[in-house]
Amino acid sequence: MSPATRVLHWYDQHGRTLPWRDTENAYQILVSEIMLQQTQVSRVLEYYPRWLALFPDWTSLAQATNAEVIRAWSGLGYNRRALMLRDIARAVLARGEPKNQQDWQTLKGIGPYTAAALAAFSLHARILPIDTNIRRVGARLLLGVPFPSLKQDERIQRAAENFLPRRGRFYEIPQALFDLATLVCTKTPHCLTCPMRSTCLAAPKFIAGRIRIPKRSIKKSVETRHRDKPYPDRIYRGRILHLVQKKRRVSLKRVGALIDETFDATQDQAWLLRMLDRMEKDHLIDLKTRFVQLHVET
Ligand code: SF4
Repeated sequence: MSPATRVLHWYDQHGRTLPWRDTENAYQILVSEIMLQQTQVSRVLEYYPRWLALFPDWTSLAQATNAEVIRAWSGLGYNRRALMLRDIARAVLARGEPKNQQDWQTLKGIGPYTAAALAAFSLHARILPIDTNIRRVGARLLLGVPFPSLKQDERIQRAAENFLPRRGRFYEIPQALFDLATLVCTKTPHCLTCPMRSTCLAAPKFIAGRIRIPKRSIKKSVETRHRDKPYPDRIYRGRILHLVQKKRRVSLKRVGALIDETFDATQDQAWLLRMLDRMEKDHLIDLKTRFVQLHVET
């Protein structure tokens, strides 16, 4: 049995059933990919069917206003993703649905991984979309690199050329590897129960205990936070959005106290205005002289 067949065989028995794996519809796949960015699968499972019921295709989403998409997205966080998705729908309607990875990547908001995922899952292109999980399992399995960085992506892609079969279910291998990475080839891999251990280039090193598992790296938060506020700015921006969704408009003088009980007009006013300004640039709100309101499209 080839390594690719073995991973598919394992996938048939242990792979997760997820609704976006049952479709080749590019719109539905893109919705799942954008939702899955920075959001857990369990949460996406709640929102995905609701979103598709409201916006079943490119056209319905392209016609939606900012307020409608933000309302439907509310709770998933990072609302800009919803507006970006809507703008991609508008671009697809204007230019036609891309037919390969390169064309997908020309659309604003679609990066290399998403373009590769769309090509692999909707067009059955023979490629490996490399995200963190695929990078980890791919580098271990195909290169023998236990803890890879982005630098290994090109080598993984080249090695995948041989690994991916030319016929059959090659297009299901990325999903199979994704589940293998999530369930078996985790940071501390379970090589002894892994279906790939006989051919995996990193397995001998792990099994012999020759690899030191790095301590959890303490990543510096990239989120901005104002002086001693307990939450990052994104939480306060979420509160502002919630506020203007609930009330038609909110007086500028009251916004600060309504989103933050420790709001100090002397120390926090500039911070609040910076957040409002950014939200206006993102077309989430309209900032007027005396009040703030949900963005109205003109
Ligand atoms: Fe990962 Fe170990 Fe399986 Fe290789 S054998 S793919 S390192 S779990």
